[in-house]
Amino acid sequence: MNNIQRLQARMVEAGCPALLVTHLANVQWLTGFTGSSGFVVLTTEQGVFVTDSRYAIQCQEQVRDLPTAVYANPVKLSDFLAQQARDLGLSQVAFEKNHVVYGTVEEWQAAFGDIALVPGDDLISALRMIKTPDEVARIRKACALADKCLEHVVRMIQPGVSERDLLLEIEFFFRRQGSKVSFEPIAVSGIRSARPHATASEKKLEVGDFVTLDLGCIVEGYISDITRTFVVGEASARHREMYDQVLKAENACVEALVVGANGREVDALARQILDEKGLAKYFGHGLGHGIGTLVHDAGRLSPTTDQPIEAGQVWTIEPGVYIEGFGGVRIEDDVLVTENGPERLTHFPRELMVLPA
Ligand code: ZN
Ligand code: ZN
Repeated sequence: MNNIQRLQARMVEAGCPALLVTHLANVQWLTGFTGSSGFVVLTTEQGVFVTDSRYAIQCQEQVRDLPTAVYANPVKLSDFLAQQARDLGLSQVAFEKNHVVYGTVEEWQAAFGDIALVPGDDLISALRMIKTPDEVARIRKACALADKCLEHVVRMIQPGVSERDLLLEIEFFFRRQGSKVSFEPIAVSGIRSARPHATASEKKLEVGDFVTLDLGCIVEGYISDITRTFVVGEASARHREMYDQVLKAENACVEALVVGANGREVDALARQILDEKGLAKYFGHGLGHGIGTLVHDAGRLSPTTDQPIEAGQVWTIEPGVYIEGFGGVRIEDDVLVTENGPERLTHFPRELMVLPA
């Protein structure tokens, strides 16, 4: 079954006769389209992909499994969508209530006239979490390229190089490979590495710094997300203790990503292992998130989410310890859940690398 058929089956189950899909990540997931403006009007049996004239040629190449309809000035999007709905013989269409702003609904309703626009529940996120083999293949490629990026950029890590130099090199690397970053890379060092999501600064690397690089790229519409932490020059006992405990938690949590587990338990395992050294209180964020077409795709591994682990999901596992005034460690891999157990998709070495000054 392709993703359109999977959604149509879900619509039948949910008693949803027609859906207007406007969230771009969902449109991409459904059709393969990677442009910046795309819409799908879908019934349980047919549907149409809508874009504007900028993407007339691209959509012929990319959009799978649906006819395409292209509008151009002076036609307005809302009128064109309404026309598609009329052509499909609809009397009611559900819109994605979590993704459409109120003003847009008002505008569309005026254009749709007799066709009722109703707020629709999220039918797609749960489906998106279970990847098709084709999607896994794309994520695998993105992970392989992220591994290569780390291999490339790790050679630059030495005193005097700034966080921004590292950030730029990461961006250049992916661009040179015909890819691009899936989010702004994080490159932080020394006491700044205690900020899990800081922006790279002009700070130069120094001996004794932790250096955390969190990066990923997009390949064929799918993303990767990997983090490694290094030490510059010389690692102290404190560096090693923090690092080893985060690594122990990371390894154990990857192993625990088996069909039938619950994400909340996997998250708790990380905290339990960090607490062997009194470090759990320095781990504030969740253990991981789903990835796919987005870096924060559906699904969270955290203390507050009840998340069944199922085959076909792809998760990040990213425990971290962040101590203000000293520094932070995070280690993150992307992991596919299979019937035969977890499979890491990112492979850059995880053992502590102390880079010569
Ligand atoms: Zn990351
Ligand atoms: Zn992540």
